[in-house]
Amino acid sequence: MPHSNGGQTSTRWHILGAGSMGTLWAARLARAGLPVTLILRNPMRLHAYEAARGLTLVEGEHSQRLNVTAQLPETDEPIQRLLVTCKAYDAEQAVAHIAHRLSPDADVILLQNGLGSQQAVAARVPHARCIFASSTEGAFRDGDWRVVFAGRGHTWLGDIHVGEAPHWLEELQRSGIAHEWSASILSRLWRKLALNCAINPLTVLHNCRNGGLQAHSDEVNTLCTELCALLEQCDQPEAAVDLTAEVNRVIHATASNYSSMNQDVTQGRRTEISYLLGYACEAARQQSFAVPHLQALHQRLTDHLKQHGLPCN
Ligand code: NAP
Repeated sequence: MPHSNGGQTSTRWHILGAGSMGTLWAARLARAGLPVTLILRNPMRLHAYEAARGLTLVEGEHSQRLNVTAQLPETDEPIQRLLVTCKAYDAEQAVAHIAHRLSPDADVILLQNGLGSQQAVAARVPHARCIFASSTEGAFRDGDWRVVFAGRGHTWLGDIHVGEAPHWLEELQRSGIAHEWSASILSRLWRKLALNCAINPLTVLHNCRNGGLQAHSDEVNTLCTELCALLEQCDQPEAAVDLTAEVNRVIHATASNYSSMNQDVTQGRRTEISYLLGYACEAARQQSFAVPHLQALHQRLTDHLKQHGLPCN
């Protein structure tokens, strides 16, 4: 539904996945005066949200409450612009529930880590324009409907069918969401996936901070060599350029951090393994390309997750 904003009409942003990233986007768009609606899972979540009377965005010492409307997936309001910020393993099911509400020329922005979930969503909504996004921003929830903007970063958006940049990027600009239109979003997502595969599983298996991998540099470098070969094999040579050096630089620069996968396992949360290491191994299998070290790592990680009672998909 169009929304009047200082004489101009803006298309409403519907946000599916009102977790850390979804509420971080919702709060900043709403703060810029743009129309935003959260799509919440069920009536219980909707009641809890209504009782909290809005979202709270925490940035450093400052916190601000923002009035953002919310609704259920079953609502029949059409959706013209959808931001999906569910975890990779939830995205396809969540979009399937609201697919009938998407306008024929809707834009669907997919902000998931890894690869595989975006393609699965795109196949579910062939009439929509799917835009893939990759972000280095960081956010977490320190309470229900409270989001902490923990790490300034950048978001790249792109269309794998290489279309033009959408006009609404200007709204991201207005909302202070640092972003760039990328002509090679797939390459960017592969690069991030490769970095993740070289670092995150080992931080789980060695139960260490990123810096702890400095004591396992042979293992890290072997994985990087195999990942570079796989990227070349998958027609992503750009994503392989200087990967080993970047992995080692990231390990050094984020030495005191726990990786997201390490935090997920420590806190007993499901990981996105199938869309990261699992996706890399599956891509290799489909090309009959041998990746013995990645496969062994996948097996060790799967066993580890099972031992901790966590899903390994
Ligand atoms: P999150 O906090 O777990 O949020 C995901 C949200 O999706 C949850 O609020 C969940 O609802 C909701 N959801 C799941 N299924 C749903 C459904 N069927 N209908 C409605 N809502 C549904 O996850 P996140 O940290 O924002 O991460 C989202 C994606 O961004 C991930 O792929 C992650 O890797 C990536 N990412 C995250 C960060 C970060 O700093 N957080 C940074 C870069 C990239 P409930 O709360 O009801 O379970």
